[in-house]
Amino acid sequence: MSILIVDDSLTSRTFIGDLLIEAGFTDLILCNSVEEAYQSIGFYETDETSTDLDLILLDINLPGKSGIDSCREFSAHAFFGEVPIIIISGADHLDGLDSAFAAGATDYITKPPNHTELLARVRSALRLKKEMNRRKAREMELLILNERLAEMNLELEKLSTTDSLTGLANRRSFNEFITREWMREQRGQKPFSVIMIDIDHFKRYNDYYGHLEGDVCLQKVSMALQSALCRGGDLLARYGGEEFIAILPDTDINGARELAIAFHNRVKKLEIPHNESPVAPIITVSIGIASVIPSRKLSSSQVIAMADDALYQAKDSGRNQSVIAAPVAGDRQTPI
Ligand code: GH3
Ligand code: MG
Ligand code: MG
Repeated sequence: MSILIVDDSLTSRTFIGDLLIEAGFTDLILCNSVEEAYQSIGFYETDETSTDLDLILLDINLPGKSGIDSCREFSAHAFFGEVPIIIISGADHLDGLDSAFAAGATDYITKPPNHTELLARVRSALRLKKEMNRRKAREMELLILNERLAEMNLELEKLSTTDSLTGLANRRSFNEFITREWMREQRGQKPFSVIMIDIDHFKRYNDYYGHLEGDVCLQKVSMALQSALCRGGDLLARYGGEEFIAILPDTDINGARELAIAFHNRVKKLEIPHNESPVAPIITVSIGIASVIPSRKLSSSQVIAMADDALYQAKDSGRNQSVIAAPVAGDRQTPI
């Protein structure tokens, strides 16, 4: 517990110092001017580890910088701003006290100080400082707790929208995304495409290589598919076990077809061996594509159903291929 005493009168300084030492306050810094005090406590240092002051006893009349100016500077200081200041004033200078309080002083004593009065005021100021320290520590704790809570909320939000195995969007965030985008595209009458991707003969893969290898395969395939998406507005989600879905707002059939080719190529490039697949010696995917101009007559689930039908046809036609769903009013299906 450090107490700074600034008084240019040696007699007064020593008197106050001795009284405080007698009362058990041993950590005292005695200075005869504000300049000397600033030097002693490292007033101009920017490091928070400089002197830990608990109380300042400041003579109002000092040569050089005055007690009131110093009071103002202490109050505005980043580290010493909350240290209580007791002004030491001559009984004939009490008219300066108003300015001292306005400058941030918390209390005053008159010279020569009365023993009991001095100790009572010092103890009460120190109690105040202790309470302020406690409050500050509590505020800091709350701040840290709040930050931690915000981080946890963010993490929770992420967990609730992300598939834990693949890190892709989960079904829930997929549903939110497609509902929002569909409404937006309906207003804008822009093309809207959906691509459904399903790993071929994945059950046989699991049975042969084991479920854990199956999980690793799902992770690799999802990363490969994700790496093919290059537009910020697109979304790739895990739709089911080994089924993925890409939502492509503002994308027509040509853009969707190109992306489907990229999906096939990226998965092929992984070269994940699949001994049990009658389609290829490596993991392959089948893809269904649906592309529409959103209208009031059509719902987003109908478009998903169209992509699903096309995927079924890709499976039926031998797998490892893409099929484009027939346009709503027409009948075009193009295996690629
Ligand atoms: P198809 O070519 O017709 O799609 O055949 P398939 O075997 O891929 O399809 P099926 O629907 O018969 O089997 C899907 C398999 O995917 C069965 C299931 O064990 C596996 N699967 C689903 N989710 C997971 C998962 O999270 N991890 C692992 N390892 N396997 C999964
Ligand atoms: Mg499958
Ligand atoms: Mg499937």
